[in-house]
Amino acid sequence: GEISVKESLENTLREYALDEVVRVVETGCMGACDLGPIMVIYPEGVFYQKLDSNNVKKVVEEHLLKGRIVKELLYTGPTGEVKEKPQEELPFFKKQVKIATRNLGVVDPLSIEEYIARDGYFALTKVIKEMNPEDVISELKKSGLRGRGGAGFPTGLKWEFARKATGDIKYVICNADEGDPGAFMDRAILEGDPHSVVEAMTIAAYTVGASKGFIYVRAEYPLAIERFSHALKKAREYGFLGENILGSEFSFDIEIRIGAGAFVCGEETALINSIEGKRGIPRVKPPYPAQKGLWGKPTLINNVETYANIPPIILHGGDWFAQFGVEGSRGTKVFALAGKVNNTGLVEVPMGISLRELIYEIGGGVPGGKKLKAVQTGGPSGGCIPEKHIDTPITYDTLKELGTIIGSGGMIVMDEDDCMVDVAKFFLEFTVEESCGQCTPCRDGTKRMLEILERITEGEGTEEDLETLKELSEHIMKTSLCGLGQTAPQPVMSTMRYFWDEYEAHVKEKR
Ligand code: SF4
Repeated sequence: GEISVKESLENTLREYALDEVVRVVETGCMGACDLGPIMVIYPEGVFYQKLDSNNVKKVVEEHLLKGRIVKELLYTGPTGEVKEKPQEELPFFKKQVKIATRNLGVVDPLSIEEYIARDGYFALTKVIKEMNPEDVISELKKSGLRGRGGAGFPTGLKWEFARKATGDIKYVICNADEGDPGAFMDRAILEGDPHSVVEAMTIAAYTVGASKGFIYVRAEYPLAIERFSHALKKAREYGFLGENILGSEFSFDIEIRIGAGAFVCGEETALINSIEGKRGIPRVKPPYPAQKGLWGKPTLINNVETYANIPPIILHGGDWFAQFGVEGSRGTKVFALAGKVNNTGLVEVPMGISLRELIYEIGGGVPGGKKLKAVQTGGPSGGCIPEKHIDTPITYDTLKELGTIIGSGGMIVMDEDDCMVDVAKFFLEFTVEESCGQCTPCRDGTKRMLEILERITEGEGTEEDLETLKELSEHIMKTSLCGLGQTAPQPVMSTMRYFWDEYEAHVKEKR
């Protein structure tokens, strides 16, 4: 049968008795999806792309045995240029500022020693030995970090609420129920750098006064689960987790809970219900989890990417983090670039970067010389940004003004051939599928909207349909219980706002 690139590499190394000399480390995702599988040979740092179980043998025979670079496997970009070390030269890598993804593709996720060698667990040590909880909160506030899962709530404030809440027991949760179509940064972090999340959750627990933590990971992420549970085991062995952490009075441990794949469980109250063993449907807020969360106790809940930013903030200070980004949107954000863009994959960039830089410089532009039409951000809760706004800096506020959100960081690039009504339909289909059915506007309203969109795209729609779409959108947004319903009409509203002519054209086809 077929063997993997890694197996083939290891077999070849063994064949040439190089297996004792050359260490093969499977790292996390470096972000450059369309180049993969990739391999970087150290100490030179030469980067080979598009490997398979056959051509990888050549790298061993030529590069490792004879010191000759295998030119045909080097990086060739959209313009055909050949680079030995694209990670140092190309805008795709160079223009990124990696904080949350600092260790991805760099450390062996199964080695706690490698994490420690990259300053891992230094922040936790600093917190326990030198800082009190108020100091941690004050650094977080200075950093300006906001929740990276979608809502963008200031993290320092959230931690402060949980710290101040009274309760005999408190909990810390990591939301790893990443569900937006196309977004996979949380998965990449858990697979590539699980210790950063273990460390951050432990810092969080110390800060808010929690003794027990849960990470809620979706079942579709088996490798993330495996690596995270390995990290937990190692962290306990090294005294970073468990009883009397680093010899202090502070004890804390983390349990993994596996989600059953319902998108709505990413909503924090639904997630809490699910951990409690109840049906994963959203609760009415307030009370917020910081007051009354898991089993009615004060609970701090952040997503994976938010946590991954915590250790560097503690280590280098809130001001250091705040130097990246702009007022109101500090630090960096990981985006998943997809669609009609040359370099697809995960990128981490300073907030405030323009869409133009992101799509043309880092993303390498639109394939085939096509015209950019729009960028969809924020997944099923988001909207699109038309080409004319391409110079907008990406911040929480500017995207809101344009009728969309940063969300969890999905970014789908569309060219002149894409139909915006189809885009809206795609996201609405997703919502209809994922609505938990608890409230009528979300359960039935989105279905009605989808029916109308289907009619429109089949050329059977009418002008009244367009009016009904607008009315339904407003009604659903106002009356739904949770974020899923409240934001479900966004993709439709936003495409109607900027591409009304396309809706009209579909309707007019009929006459
Ligand atoms: Fe469920 Fe939708 Fe209501 Fe949210 S808005 S609780 S997903 S039915």
